[in-house]
Amino acid sequence: MSKIKINIVRPILPDIKDIKDDFSDCLKSGIVTNNGINVKKFEKNLKLHFNSKYNPVTFCNGQLAFYALLQAWKYKLKIKNFEKVYAIIPSFTWSGTINSLILSNIEPIFCDINDTLTADLESIDLNVKKFRKIRKKIKFFISISNYGNIPDLKKIKSFCKENKLIPLVDSAAAFGSTFKEKYPINYGFDEIYSFHATKIMTSMEGGCVLSNNKKIIDLVRYFRDFGQFEKKIGNIKLPGLNAKMQEISAIIGSYNLKSFEKNFKSRLKIIKSYQNFFKYYSNRKFLIEMKVNPNTTCNYLYYPIIILKKSNLLKKNLTKSNVSFRKYYSAVHTLDYYKKNTNFKKISLKYTNLIRKKIIALPLFSDMEKKELNYLLKIFKKIYKK
Ligand SMILES: *Cc1c(COP(=O)(O)O)cnc(C)c1O
Repeated sequence: MSKIKINIVRPILPDIKDIKDDFSDCLKSGIVTNNGINVKKFEKNLKLHFNSKYNPVTFCNGQLAFYALLQAWKYKLKIKNFEKVYAIIPSFTWSGTINSLILSNIEPIFCDINDTLTADLESIDLNVKKFRKIRKKIKFFISISNYGNIPDLKKIKSFCKENKLIPLVDSAAAFGSTFKEKYPINYGFDEIYSFHATKIMTSMEGGCVLSNNKKIIDLVRYFRDFGQFEKKIGNIKLPGLNAKMQEISAIIGSYNLKSFEKNFKSRLKIIKSYQNFFKYYSNRKFLIEMKVNPNTTCNYLYYPIIILKKSNLLKKNLTKSNVSFRKYYSAVHTLDYYKKNTNFKKISLKYTNLIRKKIIALPLFSDMEKKELNYLLKIFKKIYKK
């Protein structure tokens, strides 16, 4: 009998002895939050990692990082808080990103994805009649690197230029992924990352904003501290939230960042094994794999598969064998709030609706052992008989 159990995630975290001194110093100093030395250090380390113009601004999580970025852009564009504007965003993603839009009074216009599982630009035409009345109020295009798959940034740039939209990238899942060996920020895209424990580079909870625009960087910095830009009277520039990263998270973030490249190399090998294995099954139409953009090195936060045959049997066997899998992502337009309370605009959700009930995310860890991987893949061999 095998005792293998494969959870959906296995975060890489330091041993207590590796962070003990830093954390002990932090406790002794009494400065456990409020832009302390460890947060500053982590931001410097992140700047080196991304080779960005400015220090990334850390947050207590990825969702608030994204929310802050939206608020900063609204401020910069002089859009009043109560004035409704629109953003185009794929429905097939994490609900948190779309919730941040709603809470910012930015109404989502749901668009489709293609076989890359990222936005299908070709299906978007904003010059059609149904958008005529609101055309000037469509301000943003939110690109999302689902499972770490960065979409074609060149196409996004020209699409946004042509349609006069501000492109923002939700890279929450995509730490380590690159497009032509660079990060979206290096091509001038404002983006956010998440360091949640389920993500590849973790600080337990955490996130950051990257921008090449000094004004945006300043605004998100104010935002995470209630909007304060000075401390004498606590004067605020914009209505912010307390969204600061704690020192303990920054200590863990900096520690994990040191071994990230090494872990990512092992991760790429595991990804290769998955791809080699599933090729046979996708060629025979048992399943469909995500098509990675040819210019993208994808971190594969999970290994998504769209199951075409023997779905129930496969899922039952995975569960029976203690292999966790996840319904990730769900199409947000089908979730209760978005379905019931409102009547959101949609741009053809053909591919989204085709795959949304068929897709599952399989576990993929940077330190996955061969034994574990083989154990998982054997289940597929058994079901599909190879
Ligand atoms: C994880 C994730 C988020 C949320 O990040 P948190 O740090 O958990 O708030 C947002 N968008 C996407 C695409 C994600 O995968």
